[in-house]
Amino acid sequence: MEGIGKSKPLSTSVGDYLKAIWELAGSGKVTTTGVSERLSVAPGSVTRMLGRLQGMGLVRHEPYRGVSLTERGEAEALKLLRRHRLIEAFLIEYLGYGWEEVHEEAERLEHAVSDGFTERLAELLGHPDRDPHGSPIPGKDGTLVPEDLVPLSEVAVGDLVRIARIRREDAEALAYLGGHDLVPGRLLKVKEVRDVAGVVTVEGEDESVHPLGEPLARSILVQRASGRGAE
Ligand SMILES: [Zn+2]
Repeated sequence: MEGIGKSKPLSTSVGDYLKAIWELAGSGKVTTTGVSERLSVAPGSVTRMLGRLQGMGLVRHEPYRGVSLTERGEAEALKLLRRHRLIEAFLIEYLGYGWEEVHEEAERLEHAVSDGFTERLAELLGHPDRDPHGSPIPGKDGTLVPEDLVPLSEVAVGDLVRIARIRREDAEALAYLGGHDLVPGRLLKVKEVRDVAGVVTVEGEDESVHPLGEPLARSILVQRASGRGAE
């Protein structure tokens, strides 16, 4: 059994597996195929790695029933998520990065920095509970603020909604959304929802109109600002 000593950081790939399982399943279960698709790694390699992670006490893997994080695996995943999101906030606030640039940089840095560095970052940033994309930053003790958000793909015509979180990491989508000022905090009115194509058309406070395809609309999480029919 491989130990994970307090001072010894997890390898990049171990961390990436834990984060992928957390992002796909939270405290629940995910299939090997799901992990394989998420990480673009062959199923055979995923199965071998899951065996290794099980040996380290980080996951529970039952053949044909899926994989879940152990309490320790979940704590490690949340620790990485905390680092990742604090680093993203730091890069934007202090180093002038665009919000579409920070993910790749944070993916690298999160494996390099220590817990002490992470806490100094948190201090410097004033202990934020959300990152620049609106994603919750786990607390030092692994707690997460509860979220009551709906995807923009599930709203109704006439709804007034406020963007709370963008669940996308790819630079292309983020550059597009940022360029159209579709960022956390913005208020939108839902003008049209086309059921078949899934296109949601929204209007911003500046009266700019944006038709958004289903995949993009699904990745924009919103809070309802008022009921249906608000004009
Ligand atoms: Zn990121």
